[in-house]
Amino acid sequence: MARYTDAVCRLCRREGQKLFLKGDRCYTDKCAIDRRPYPPGQHGQGRAKASEYGTQLREKQKAKRYYGVLESQFRGYFEMARKRKGKAGENLLSLLETRLDNTVYRLGFAMSRAEARQLVLHGHFLVNGRKVNIPSFLVKPGMIITLRDKSKSLDKFKAVIEANASRTPPKWLEYDRNALVAKVTAAPMRDDIDFPIEEQLIVEHYSK
Ligand code: SF4
Repeated sequence: MARYTDAVCRLCRREGQKLFLKGDRCYTDKCAIDRRPYPPGQHGQGRAKASEYGTQLREKQKAKRYYGVLESQFRGYFEMARKRKGKAGENLLSLLETRLDNTVYRLGFAMSRAEARQLVLHGHFLVNGRKVNIPSFLVKPGMIITLRDKSKSLDKFKAVIEANASRTPPKWLEYDRNALVAKVTAAPMRDDIDFPIEEQLIVEHYSK
């Protein structure tokens, strides 16, 4: 599947906020958006005010880039969200949160969602005891996520787990740090998503 392979810091600068796409670098003074807080490109510092359409488009792009999802897949999530009970925008965020790559990132098994995606693709995680190597797999309440036994002894996991030891998992995940086992206790609610996003603008964008 095609992926975005250009310099990811440009994406943060385009959206005007940190999307945390580069792992630990995002928390240092090397972060590009701290150094150059304006959109990339020749005219980055002289752009006109965005139109209503432009504002809605940017919000959609921001969510897509934050979760590392391409347009067709993102649109698919929106259609799923719209068919569910409740507010489409909140349903959309809830669906994106429950992607397996996001879930393992939230648990602190990776420094970024892109890294989490790679780790899932390489088959390091089990869901309900079975290997799942599909980053877009959606976890559901009751499911158990574990790091494969063989992977627990790998230095890279030891290092990242230690580096993220102080990261608090979201309320919808019950995590036993000693056993490296997590249980999905509920569907993520809007309050569980601390990323600043106006999901209603995404709904408006797709409703035109
Ligand atoms: Fe975004 Fe991280 Fe790059 Fe900063 S370092 S611009 S947060 S990807």
